[in-house]
Amino acid sequence: MNNSSIKCLIIGSGPAGYTAAIYAARAALEPVVYEGLQPGGQLTTTTVIENFPGYPDGVDANQLMGDMRAQAINLGADVRLGMVTAVDLSTRPFAVTVDDGTILHAETLIIATGATAKYLGLPSEEKFRGFGVSACATCDGFFYRGKDVAVVGGGDTACEEATYLAHLCKKVYMIVRRNVLRASKAMQERVMQTPNIEILWECQTQEVLGDANGVTGVRLVRKSGEVFEKAIDGFFLAIGHQPQSDLFKAWIKTDENGYILTDGKSSRTNVEGVFAAGDVQDPQYRQAIAAAGSGCRAALDAERYILSKK
Ligand code: NDP
Repeated sequence: MNNSSIKCLIIGSGPAGYTAAIYAARAALEPVVYEGLQPGGQLTTTTVIENFPGYPDGVDANQLMGDMRAQAINLGADVRLGMVTAVDLSTRPFAVTVDDGTILHAETLIIATGATAKYLGLPSEEKFRGFGVSACATCDGFFYRGKDVAVVGGGDTACEEATYLAHLCKKVYMIVRRNVLRASKAMQERVMQTPNIEILWECQTQEVLGDANGVTGVRLVRKSGEVFEKAIDGFFLAIGHQPQSDLFKAWIKTDENGYILTDGKSSRTNVEGVFAAGDVQDPQYRQAIAAAGSGCRAALDAERYILSKK
């Protein structure tokens, strides 16, 4: 091992990255964290988090992420603003280039770069993001209790989110662009058996409507050309997520959607010494607490790996 190299380099600053940093710091791995474009990760795009254990009255998402960051720093993590722009995982230690041109060398790497929800790309959708437009029903559904909402998409996520919302909301419209759902049969059946879900087949969103208080409706266009509006308070996107794994694809195995593959319950990737945590390796759960848990596992795996090489 190279004496001047970083023992544990963590890429990403969501719950997975900061938790990995907390554990790695306590294990004396002197972790360095590169925070990326969005310090705090996806959570910072939402408002109050009510399902992160330990906060009986909920917690502001930015406060939660700020606290995780402060905890990592207090324990000795070197948290740096900056983007990793390239990696070379064929050399030991690994070579990692950051956006100021510096090339770092790391004995272990924890990839915690997360995933980003896909949006339709409408200006009105952008305008009301966080004010009625959300890409996470589990995070924000609670705020729409007893109200009418819409979910865009016809995959497993859309069906899951629609059935979740149906328990809370008066009415859930699913906006589906084709005349079939992409979701598995079991998920389709759950949707069909839920009386307060109505599927709007062969419909695309033209515009999210709203006022100073947030979303009030949606204007849709059917394949037939008919344009119509529905009154809603919440507009949920469920058209897929994009794991941020492109930088590593030359070396690290992913599934067909780009999610990094890890070995069993561990965070080990196919490259020894490289570990993955959080949403970049998790197409299923995508929750802050789940990401934090996997960040913990990645730091423990990195520690064990370093000890095994001594
Ligand atoms: P998918 O890619 O499976 O589905 C995306 C859905 O969004 C499709 O219905 C697609 O329509 C629609 N869509 C995409 N782009 C647009 C657009 N621009 N406008 C309107 N609609 C659009 O993504 P998911 O997130 O649902 O699932 C990802 C993976 O995770 C899948 O493999 C899924 O099986 C898995 N998953 C499994 C779960 C489980 O087992 N419990 C839960 C959640 C996800 P179209 O069909 O026309 O392309």
